[in-house]
Amino acid sequence: MSGGTQKGGMREGVQVVKLGEGAQRYELDEEALRRVLLRQDVRGLPVVVVSVAGAYRGGKSFILDFFLRYLKASRYSQQTGAWLGSEDEPLQGFHWRGGSERNTTGIHLWSEPIITTLEATGEKVAVLLMDTQGTFDSETTIGQNSTIFALSTLISSVQIYNLTGNIKEDDLQHLQLFTEYGRLACDSKSKAFQTLLFLVRDWPHAFEHAYGFLGGSTLLNKRLQAKVNQNPELRQVREHIRTCFDNIKCFLMPHPGHSVEDLKFTGCLRVTDLREQFRLALLELVPSLFDPKHLTPKLISGERVTTQDLFDYFKTYVGIFNS
Ligand code: GDP
Ligand code: MG
Repeated sequence: MSGGTQKGGMREGVQVVKLGEGAQRYELDEEALRRVLLRQDVRGLPVVVVSVAGAYRGGKSFILDFFLRYLKASRYSQQTGAWLGSEDEPLQGFHWRGGSERNTTGIHLWSEPIITTLEATGEKVAVLLMDTQGTFDSETTIGQNSTIFALSTLISSVQIYNLTGNIKEDDLQHLQLFTEYGRLACDSKSKAFQTLLFLVRDWPHAFEHAYGFLGGSTLLNKRLQAKVNQNPELRQVREHIRTCFDNIKCFLMPHPGHSVEDLKFTGCLRVTDLREQFRLALLELVPSLFDPKHLTPKLISGERVTTQDLFDYFKTYVGIFNS
């Protein structure tokens, strides 16, 4: 499913960073990045960068397409919840079925920054959506994947760590690894990263921790707690994660319902087929990220980052990781 056409090209996810060979271990597609960030209409605007990172087939593209829906909806639809869409509207945007994107490690940006106005100040900002995909399936991929995740965490104002079922010890260890790589690339004494959101998909224990941010925060406190008799290694992982981010949150997402499996065949999303709980969760999650009251502009060393700055940061960071 590709997005529609517009003047100047297709709207789609564009790969800007991929894994290379030899000295160019991380390849930046500068031309592609230029087409997204250096467009006339977003010149000089501060950016808000929301990234979804995680393994292949975790539902990242699927949720990103709901983000797009919200961002493109009128203010009225955003406020009434009508932004979720009508029954027969196909879910478009990032390709949410495997297809040719299968196992493509790297960073994709939505080709069109979405211009939005911050409610507090009336300033315009450019919202960028980023899809970060990697695998941690073999020893050889772990280092490179960590760097890709580190890069997207450095670049984003909100990093959504997309997980299935729970926050597992492995997930925390991988997170520690990629935040370590990320810290190597910055010199500042302040926290290296902005907001981290653990997004747990198909949360199975709603009776124990409720869906949404409420259950998420109790689960997170439990998982990130340093305990008295804890193995020092486990304790260190937790302390490290806490010190890296300004803000850490967790959201528990219900299973969307079994119709998502049929979607592979129909290619069309009927919002009425989604479980009510999933729809309610979307209505809580998506505005918390993109409502003009809540948008978080990207800061580096306390300064707002513009589209041009972001272009330069991409080049600098990729250069550092290649050296
Ligand atoms: P990505 O590779 O992480 O971008 O995953 P996709 O968004 O392409 O989704 C992979 C498959 O999972 C698709 O068939 C989706 O319909 C399905 N899917 C999307 N969201 C969810 C979810 O929250 N739970 C489950 N179980 N499946 C989902
Ligand atoms: Mg995808």
